[in-house]
Amino acid sequence: MLGLMQTQNLSISGILRHGARHHSTAEVVSRTHEGTTHRYTWSEVERRSRRLVRAMQRLGIGEGDRVGTLAWNGYRHLEVYYAAPGMGAICHTINPRLHPDDIAYIVNHAADKVLFVDLSFAPLVAAIAERTRDCVRAVVFLCDAASMPDIALAPGIALHCFDTLMDAADEDYVWPDFDENTASALCYTSGTTGRPKGVLYSHRSTYLHAYAACMPDVLCARASERILPVVPMFHVNAWGIPYACALTGAGLILPGRYLDGASLAALLNAENVTLTCGVPTIWMGLLQHLRTTGEKLTSVKRIMTGGSATPPLLIEAFRDEQNVRVEHGWGMTELSPVGTYNSPKEAQAGLTGADAVRHMLKQGRILPGIDMKIVDGEGKALPWDGVAFGDLMVKGPWIASAYYGDAPGSALDADGWFATGDVSTIDPDGFMEITDRSKDVIKSGGEWIGSIALENIAVSHPDVLEAAVIASRHPKWDERPLLLVVAKPGATIDPASVLRIYEGQIAKWWLPDEVLVVDELPHTATGKLQKTTLRSQYKDYYMK
Ligand code: AMP
Repeated sequence: MLGLMQTQNLSISGILRHGARHHSTAEVVSRTHEGTTHRYTWSEVERRSRRLVRAMQRLGIGEGDRVGTLAWNGYRHLEVYYAAPGMGAICHTINPRLHPDDIAYIVNHAADKVLFVDLSFAPLVAAIAERTRDCVRAVVFLCDAASMPDIALAPGIALHCFDTLMDAADEDYVWPDFDENTASALCYTSGTTGRPKGVLYSHRSTYLHAYAACMPDVLCARASERILPVVPMFHVNAWGIPYACALTGAGLILPGRYLDGASLAALLNAENVTLTCGVPTIWMGLLQHLRTTGEKLTSVKRIMTGGSATPPLLIEAFRDEQNVRVEHGWGMTELSPVGTYNSPKEAQAGLTGADAVRHMLKQGRILPGIDMKIVDGEGKALPWDGVAFGDLMVKGPWIASAYYGDAPGSALDADGWFATGDVSTIDPDGFMEITDRSKDVIKSGGEWIGSIALENIAVSHPDVLEAAVIASRHPKWDERPLLLVVAKPGATIDPASVLRIYEGQIAKWWLPDEVLVVDELPHTATGKLQKTTLRSQYKDYYMK
């Protein structure tokens, strides 16, 4: 027997209409290219997004078409975010930090029909124009007429100004209703190995993810919060924050292109931001700025960090020096992206000092609506004892079933689980902790050593700015950990003193055999350590 409740397609235009109707005065603030501040409300975002649909239709965009963006976090980008899926097209956010070859590959693979581009990426678009002219029909610069760049694109690619298109368009569009499983957005993984792969979100998956992201033990995105996503809108939908804010009426502050410590500190204080979200590298930059200037964060209560493991220093320094709580989450492009969030249960609520910091290093509990498990090499489920570690598998309605262009279900195992490629423990309270990427784990004498714990300890050394632990082949043990460290500006690292700080913190056989001081470590386009490069460079270090 079926229930007798109303059915309604979950849609991205539904999120926007809710924001416009029930949070019509909630603010969306953008730092613009010119350094000015643009302010408007969710009701204006909705109205302008309808206008943008009309402009998109004039460019020949229709249902199912891919609309590419190369843009920072700003209001025009936000309008593309809502207009494209709202009309049944697909908003394809492209990471401009990727290599131009990868960007050209992605644009062609997605067959983007039109690109919406921030002025700072004009040279990039010119560089890939010749290679993308088979699919791209037009490039629209996200600016006013006076700021239009003087560039030549390949023949067949028209050049437009966003504001001019908007001025000429009507707002008479009515948001259509369609199947909630319709594709809404496309985002390619950063592809540390092989070509980037596309994850194709649906209206339903985006809506459910946004609901879960707002929950009290996740972002707690109440109407009284003001949220600044430093995480770019081109990196997995800025972790769902542009949708979450429209659902709850939280203020949305979009920082534009300047993400250095000084620019962020100024914007966070000027806009009374209460919660800000981004990767640890950004927070290290902010911390360094605050320490050198003595500035204080006046309104920020919480910093959410994710994307890579959190150094304990970050949690301690913001707590002790700024009275700001650092919260830790984990996710991936394939998970829309948020999968877990570290909010205490009753048992952890009383933790203080070092115990609280140690607990916050865990990536957290699964969001309600999705599920996780850890398995050994044979696929057998491992206990949730906080000790056993194995491959982390996930399942649920905002997790990819296949990559763009592949057969539905092809990214899953026979029971419908998606292998994250992360290796982790889960404790009896359900807190997951990543010990490694499966390809980064160090297999020493048949046992596994997790590199993240070793890196976290290394960065607690007063002279160490950044650390990477990689597996290096070893004649006796198969692989042994090799530690690479970068010194803080002006500091000199004594390798023996780095090894001494491990005493009593790890099992003896986990101790890196050697410490190498290097000038810098390679990073991916999303700011993660690029261990593939390091591994190939140092793979035979212990064999020599
Ligand atoms: P991406 O799809 O680019 O967001 O990358 C996802 C990967 O980033 C995950 O599979 C993890 O390996 C890593 N990652 C994300 N969040 C965290 C975190 N909080 N701690 C450690 N690694 C993380």
